[in-house]
Amino acid sequence: MRTLKRPPAPSLKKDWRETLFTMSGGLCAYCTVRLEQGWEADHYLPQESFPELQDCWYNLLPSCKPCNRAKWDFVPEALRDKTIIPPEANTTTPHDFVLDARYLPHKAASERILEPTFDNAEEHLEFVPSSCEFKHTSLIGACTVKEIFAHREMTEELTKTSLTMYNLARDRSPNDTVQSVIALSKFPVLAEILLQYWQEFFPPKSSTE
Ligand SMILES: [Zn+2]
Repeated sequence: MRTLKRPPAPSLKKDWRETLFTMSGGLCAYCTVRLEQGWEADHYLPQESFPELQDCWYNLLPSCKPCNRAKWDFVPEALRDKTIIPPEANTTTPHDFVLDARYLPHKAASERILEPTFDNAEEHLEFVPSSCEFKHTSLIGACTVKEIFAHREMTEELTKTSLTMYNLARDRSPNDTVQSVIALSKFPVLAEILLQYWQEFFPPKSSTE
């Protein structure tokens, strides 16, 4: 996961999807896989439990199908059975909380999934290239790994990416070849990390050799 900066809500709702896509550079906000056609706008707090947040910009994240499916209807314990309203709602509506990035995550405490536009991803998760897995460095990270990153699609695809990067490093492929493979990779961000990992075993030849 990477930290993302959320822009203000586009005034027209039909532009929301495209803006979410641009916000994450076309990658899943959770696992960073390249988003394919039919990607889903995930409700960070599920709409079944929080119908008031169904059309709330601050509750949406671009997600690949496997991450969205893995996360499904996860609700942090501290927010269970609470009424949460969007920041733009009339606060005279009965509610427990307002969805506010500076406030709500603290209420949800540490038993919640990392929200990359609320949280600094680096404080919670670390990608371990040797095992192609995310390791948690906080309770929020642990919850994220448990609730989302246990899906098979991710491990399988990352193992393939790692093998590709291993081959490029071992063959000491020219940099432009490596860069074009990374640009087409399903996991462009993690492919970079995997490449650096393998290059430690097969250092690229220096230009003076
Ligand atoms: Zn994903």
